Amino acid sequence: MGTTSSGIALTPVKHDASALKAALQEVDRLHLRRVRRTVEAFPVPGSRAEIIIDGRRLVDFCSNDYLGLAREPSIAAAMSEAAIRLGCGSGASHLVTGHGSEHQKLEEELAAFTGRERALLFSTGYMANLAAVSTLADRGEVVVLDRLNHASLIDGTLLSGARFSRYAHGDAADAERVLKEHRGTATVLATDGVFSMAGDFARLPTLARLARAHHAWFIVDDAHGLGVLGATGRGILEHFELDATEVPVLVGTLGKAFGSFGAFIAGSKDLIELLIQKARTYIYTTALPQPVAAATRKALELVQKDSWRRERVLALTNRFRAAARQLDMQLGHSDTPIQPVILGSAEAALHAQNALLEAGFRVVAIRPPTVPKGTARLRISLSAAHTEAQVDALVEVLGRACAQAPQKTEAHG
Ligand code: PMP
Repeated sequence: MGTTSSGIALTPVKHDASALKAALQEVDRLHLRRVRRTVEAFPVPGSRAEIIIDGRRLVDFCSNDYLGLAREPSIAAAMSEAAIRLGCGSGASHLVTGHGSEHQKLEEELAAFTGRERALLFSTGYMANLAAVSTLADRGEVVVLDRLNHASLIDGTLLSGARFSRYAHGDAADAERVLKEHRGTATVLATDGVFSMAGDFARLPTLARLARAHHAWFIVDDAHGLGVLGATGRGILEHFELDATEVPVLVGTLGKAFGSFGAFIAGSKDLIELLIQKARTYIYTTALPQPVAAATRKALELVQKDSWRRERVLALTNRFRAAARQLDMQLGHSDTPIQPVILGSAEAALHAQNALLEAGFRVVAIRPPTVPKGTARLRISLSAAHTEAQVDALVEVLGRACAQAPQKTEAHG
């Protein structure tokens, strides 16, 4: 029997066609089959809070479009204008002839926004995290990670050839223990700023101090905080008042609160220059289309200008939590628009997901290996595009769905 990183036992896969079927049956047996649904249309102009799937109109409570920018007309217009002017494809990697003026301007604007010397664009956050870790860690070294970090930080470690050692989720004392255990070889400490499946914050001020004390690079992936947290949307570093000395490597994604696509790393001139020279996920890939960069530039302008979007999504988050607490739901410790409702078994989470679907809400059950065994959950995410009435109706249906979900829970793996 093999096991995944989350400890799920899998039947060994033989290398023939019947083995593929057997492996899929095993996925079904564990209630872990992932299914894609095609979003056929958006019935409300300019908003993606409502979607049409299988001909049914649903309220979408699982996108990462926290500020409601993904279908904002002025961003779409910036993208179309750039597509007509510059074409769609970049035609080459950044280091050949793929790097254009929209990329360059966006990098300069992101550097200014994050208060860093330079920023470097990547096609996805996944690739940016791979680049950050694999450029800064090397064979023979140890990368120290929170147990609930995003998969890309683990995969970056694998790409680097370093080993990883993980500390208990959110536990700075355990992080210190791991750093001490690997004194001299622990060269990178990396964490999500806001944890994607739980919505809670990493203990960044303490982790920053530990990283400096142990001479390790500190990488913060602020995929879910950027645009949402801090008085001006500069993310979790603004929330904790941390500067570039305390967090020298900042990763941001642009497909979430920015409603666009892509990602960046921000840091010192030398850090960015080294990434350009060394990062395989930067060098060996086609540059992001320039119209996407043009759209992100417009989104960045709105993130800074429309503070009402931030205020609105956080007010809706508070409204959701207050109402859910009244119904005794098991919520996580999250003050962000990511609100997990923990149900335990994958089966219970699926049951609740289906009950919500029946009632017109799209909420996705998150199961192992994305989250640890025994903590399957509904991951509800709020957006400035939602209405108060949609949030109230969700909580009401959720209360019933959770009460009816099968109670059997799995042991922690
Ligand atoms: N980091 C975190 C914490 C994430 O949640 C995600 C996306 N789910 C990523 C990185 C990857 O970003 P992208 O979708 O742009 O690849």
